[in-house]
Amino acid sequence: MTHTTYLWNPPAVQSLPVRGVSERLPINRLFFVGRNYHAHAVEMGKPVDKSVERPFYFTKAPQTLTHSGTTVVYPPETNNFHFEMELVVAIGKAGFRIAQQDAHQHIYGYGAGLDMTRRDLQLVARDKGRPWDLGKDVEQSSVCSDIVPMPGVVIELGEIALQVNGQTKQQSDVNKLIWNIREIIADLSLFYHLQPGDLIYTGTPEGVGAVIPGDKIHGHVQGVAEVELSIAKPE
Ligand code: MN
Repeated sequence: MTHTTYLWNPPAVQSLPVRGVSERLPINRLFFVGRNYHAHAVEMGKPVDKSVERPFYFTKAPQTLTHSGTTVVYPPETNNFHFEMELVVAIGKAGFRIAQQDAHQHIYGYGAGLDMTRRDLQLVARDKGRPWDLGKDVEQSSVCSDIVPMPGVVIELGEIALQVNGQTKQQSDVNKLIWNIREIIADLSLFYHLQPGDLIYTGTPEGVGAVIPGDKIHGHVQGVAEVELSIAKPE
């Protein structure tokens, strides 16, 4: 048997704690749904017509994953660092071209997440037709709570809300998702062979806004989990 050796220690596997379970959930990929609540799409100036559009996605490197409760430094090269509160789906079973009616079989559980964004850079990229990476693939920007095991459960409703320093900024309901959990899993699996450990951030409701150093974010998805993040001074 051969033993692979590396020039230096390979990067650590990214993982999240699982509520009530001693083993951690190893992370594979991080997928994000864009514009999945009507009121948020409108506030971004890009309303969605589901009858003629399909969902769209972007990805972030797994290395951007950050556990809830962390303090992150205000990131470089932005003056408009935004919070986006999101319900996160953890995939537990591989699948390709998954039918909507089978989507629940691929769900391991859920988390409460934040898709932190350099909004200034994202909008420049969007409006110039450039990739979103510098706006979205921000170090420490994919925040997630512990994963709550809910195998086979499709969440269809529940308050999703976020406060900054105790003041409510986002307050909506998961039942306002434009593309629901079954539709997202089915559609995303047309493009990717979904794998255990893939996380899908399902999109943010309206009310996104900027944070500054010293701010404390607290969000929750009813019946799932809470997520917290503190912002420290830039490096
Ligand atoms: Mn988002």
